[in-house]
Amino acid sequence: MTYIYPELNSSQINTLVNEINHYSLSNGLVMYKDLENLKNETAVAPVTLYPTILPKKSFEKAVAIQKAYNELYANILLDNTNWLDTVIKSISEFDADFTGKLYELYLKYQNDTTYKKQNKELGIFRNDFLLHENKDKTYDLKEVEFNTISVSFGALSTKVSALHSFLHESGYYKGEVKSSFDERNLEVPVSDSLANIASSIKYGVDTFETQQNIKNTIVLFVVQPNERNVFDQRLIEYELFNKYKIKAKRITIDEVEGKINKKQDSYLYYNDDVISLVYFRSCYSPNDFQSEKSWNNRLFLETSLAIKTPTLKMQLAGSKKIQQLVSSPEILEKFISDKETSNNLLNTFVKIHPLDDSAEGKYAKELINQNDSKVLDNFVLKPQREGGGNNIYKSDIYPFLKENIPDEKEWAGYILMELINAQPTKGNTILRNNQLYNVDILSELGIFGTVLIDTDTKKIEYNSYDGWLLRSKLSDSNEGGVAAGFGCVDSIALV
Ligand code: ADP
Ligand code: MG
Repeated sequence: MTYIYPELNSSQINTLVNEINHYSLSNGLVMYKDLENLKNETAVAPVTLYPTILPKKSFEKAVAIQKAYNELYANILLDNTNWLDTVIKSISEFDADFTGKLYELYLKYQNDTTYKKQNKELGIFRNDFLLHENKDKTYDLKEVEFNTISVSFGALSTKVSALHSFLHESGYYKGEVKSSFDERNLEVPVSDSLANIASSIKYGVDTFETQQNIKNTIVLFVVQPNERNVFDQRLIEYELFNKYKIKAKRITIDEVEGKINKKQDSYLYYNDDVISLVYFRSCYSPNDFQSEKSWNNRLFLETSLAIKTPTLKMQLAGSKKIQQLVSSPEILEKFISDKETSNNLLNTFVKIHPLDDSAEGKYAKELINQNDSKVLDNFVLKPQREGGGNNIYKSDIYPFLKENIPDEKEWAGYILMELINAQPTKGNTILRNNQLYNVDILSELGIFGTVLIDTDTKKIEYNSYDGWLLRSKLSDSNEGGVAAGFGCVDSIALV
């Protein structure tokens, strides 16, 4: 797409950068500078100078379909045929170190009779999309992945979109040459993800307090020990306090033993405070579990009456394998009975192949074994992992599998996904550590959503759309983790 971004002279750019720095530092659009110096040095989060232009129709479609996605994952969890358990059990064999461990904990939790179980589960999700360019130059949003644990940037998204809206409305995008940004009808929306995520957590707290007939409970944030993106989490915590007077405590998974107690009432306690909800911003990757103690602590939290966001089972529902399976119409219709809804969902999926012993799996393995770069250049190979940096792209797929996993049976722990043909945007600029990068960028749209389900009554009690996020990265880097250092937070201008 070629849209015109502002063309500012160097003095106008300097003014703009100064405005961005002041706004970001005043409003918490920041991250810790580096891991060595987590204590005090913050830096303005990497951002784009301008919001990235996106077709309004595509954006609205992504927003409109979020509740259907929420429902799909809720129904997978509420299903009473053990479908999820069976699938997870089968991939556990091929990813023993992580999926296998989570599944083992989940089984231990199920068999635990010492503590009462919580029948409510709160899911705060983020569904990620790229804009696929078709051969005829039309565009369709296609799903990258559905995240069920530790979805990030809900708070910074509100901040960066508010920043871009402020700059736009204040005239800082007006250059010497008239651009699309000068036109009054260009809409620069603000994402309400920060407020909505906090209100979803509040819904979880209220649910617990009503159910247990108790007041003044607190929320436990389980966080990573070395987190640069702390402020994205703390902004949610402050929103909870400022709006609802709900207090929160932050601990790492290894600090659970020693700081958190569980009594015979099955409640979790932080000192004398009852914890109504455990909100995980950690425990999604093997690195988060440094020792057996970490795993034991995770189980300790699960086997309690506190509501977990997410439960182990809900976390496992976010596996790449589940995404691959529900992309098939036969499986999808098991969970979404309304034809129109399932068709809308299907339209957002690209082809995802299994690499197991099924007929389709054999076909995909054959595809890989032919090692034809023309074919494999259209695919990405994904293991059952979260958090970036795990995928294998294009011509790396064949040598990776041949060298690392000689036994083809074990390829079943991976999925082979068609690459989405996302086209770079020209004309925007990334600001990172006070350096400007006028580069082509690729943008990924995330849509936040919440469900609260009751596993006894098998009902979805709450289903909401919670705002959006745009992350952009240099178009020549395959992965774009903002905290990991390749990407930045962005926002959208709708045309
Ligand atoms: P993770 O769980 O590690 O975040 P993702 O599935 O989100 O894994 O993939 C990481 C990144 O790789 C995405 O943000 C996107 O930039 C790129 N990517 C993943 N799948 C595709 C795809 N099908 N087409 C194009 N890019 C993709
Ligand atoms: Mg991702």
